[in-house]
Parts: sequence; structure tokens; C-alpha cells
Amino acid sequence: MAPVPSVTLNNGVEIPQLGFGVYQIPPEDTQEAVATALEVGYRHIDTAEMYGNEKGVGAAIAASGIPRDEIFVTSKLNNGFHRRDDALRAFDRTLEDLGTERLDLFLVHWPLPGIDVDYVETWKAMEEIYAGGRCRAVGVSNFQPHHLRRLFAETQVRPAVNQIEVHPYLVQDEVRAFDADHEIVTEAWSPIAQGKVLGDPVVVRIAQALDRTPAQVVLRWHVQRGDVVFPKSSSRERMAENFALFDFELGAEDMTALTALDRGERTGPDPDTFNYVP
Ligand code: NAD
Repeated sequence: MAPVPSVTLNNGVEIPQLGFGVYQIPPEDTQEAVATALEVGYRHIDTAEMYGNEKGVGAAIAASGIPRDEIFVTSKLNNGFHRRDDALRAFDRTLEDLGTERLDLFLVHWPLPGIDVDYVETWKAMEEIYAGGRCRAVGVSNFQPHHLRRLFAETQVRPAVNQIEVHPYLVQDEVRAFDADHEIVTEAWSPIAQGKVLGDPVVVRIAQALDRTPAQVVLRWHVQRGDVVFPKSSSRERMAENFALFDFELGAEDMTALTALDRGERTGPDPDTFNYVP
């Protein structure tokens, strides 16, 4: 199996470009799913307090026998904890639930621009968390350029990543270019649009021509664009399929054809209007 390349964040920390996402994996199934992903070869796990399954992720890592520093773990600050003190406490709980003394990457899950806590306050708490040394990098998720501009103007630490929805039906080239211009790595969530792009005739045609699966073609498209991805699956076969991306390449025409599928179509909420607090 070809090795997974790393991407270097703006503070020098390296993140594996391909990981395993655990959104919508029930808490009681998470340990087994992550254990299987680690067996398949994944060394990067993307979870969140909101998913309710950090304990399962931690249990799988502990039971795997793999040294902790060989697995990159991301978690995210939940929407109810945007105030400074709540954020600091939530970070401590995340470490405890993951059974780790140090997290690799901690993200503000959503900007929540309409709630009564300004995300600039939340980001200042993330700066404190980073300064405390128990998190190797901090970043944001679902931030638009105008949210990021406020962080640049009013805070010190530049987010290392921006995790946003990206797939061939929502190619997000403006936000991605903005991130790149500001040394922020884009992570693409729902990289296969939760399966919705896999039956697209263009995806299917390219997959047949290359003797690859539609999921592999779409994930490879992300990788060649330089984004970080972490598809979710509960089956070992699909985990292995999604992991086999580094022994083939898409030509320029195929890359262009996949990018041309853009419809500006989200599968998830719009960050400018999403203000849900549990
Ligand atoms: P995804 O695009 O990874 O799709 C997952 C779905 O596709 C599942 O139903 C799975 O069964 C199916 N699938 C997976 N591999 C397949 C294959 N090879 N062939 C056919 N079907 C396959 O969607 P996702 O889980 O929403 O996103 C991936 C990860 O992104 C999440 O697990 C989570 O870690 C992260 N995420 C983050 C946010 C955020 O707001 N930051 C939001 C959503 C997801």
C-alpha cells in the first residue's frame, strides 16, 4: 500500500492528508470502527464533541497498541461552549474523553455568527488553549473569508486549518483560494457528499476508464487539489477502498471535468445562517 503523504500546517506540524471521519458513527460502534480503520492503515481520525463518540475514538487508540504520537487526532469545540470559560472546560473534557494528554488539532466547529457570543471571543480562547501546549495546532471549521478576516484583524494566532464542506457539487474554489493565500490548509468535509456524487455520470465514466471506484476517483480529485480528506465508512471494505488513493493519478482533463460538476449545492447547513446551539 502506497504511503499517505503529509501536509505541513502553518506552524510546522504535519497532518496526514487522508484520515478517517467518525460523524454519525453511533457511540457504541465507534471503538470497533476506529479499530478497523487503524488496522486498515489510517493514522488520522476526525471526531468532534458534537458527535458524542470521542470516548470510543480514545478507547480504540488505547487498545491498538499504536504509539499515540503516530496517530493524528482532531476534535472540535461544540456550539454550546463558545464563551471563553466554557471553551477551556470543553477542551479539558475532550482530552479526558479521548484519554489523551495532548490533542493534535482542535477546531471551532461553527462560527455561529448570530448567537450572543462573538466568535472572536471563542478564537481568543482557542489561542489560550494553544498557548497552554496541550494542543499542537488550532483551527476553525465552516468559516467564510469574512469571518476569517475578523480573526486576522482582532487576534494573534492564524488558524492552521479551515474545515469546510467540499465535493464536486460544491467545489468552494473561492474559500479554498482565500485559505491558501493566508497559509490555512483546507480540509474537505463530506468529501463524497455523503455518497450523492458517486452516481454522477461523469464520475462513473472516469472511474470505469481508470478501473477505479467512483469514491476513489472523487477522493483522488480532492488529494490532487491539495485538500485534506477523511471519508466516513463503517465497513472494512469501503475503508480499504477509500484508503487506496496513492497509486494512481487523474489527468488534467478528468480533474477539470470533475471540478466542472460544481452546482453550489450544500449537503449541510450554510455557515452564514447556521446558529444552532444544542
Ligand atoms: P462522506 O462524504 O465521507 O460520506 C459518508 C457516506 O458515504 C456514508 O454513508 C458511507 O457509508 C458512504 N461511503 C463511504 N465510502 C464509500 C464508498 N467507498 N462507496 C460508497 N459509499 C461510501 O460524509 P461525512 O461523513 O458527512 O463526512 C466525512 C467526515 O467529515 C465526517 O465523518 C466528519 O469527520 C467530517 N464532517 C465535518 C463537518 C463539520 O461541520 N466540520 C460536517 C460533516 C462532516
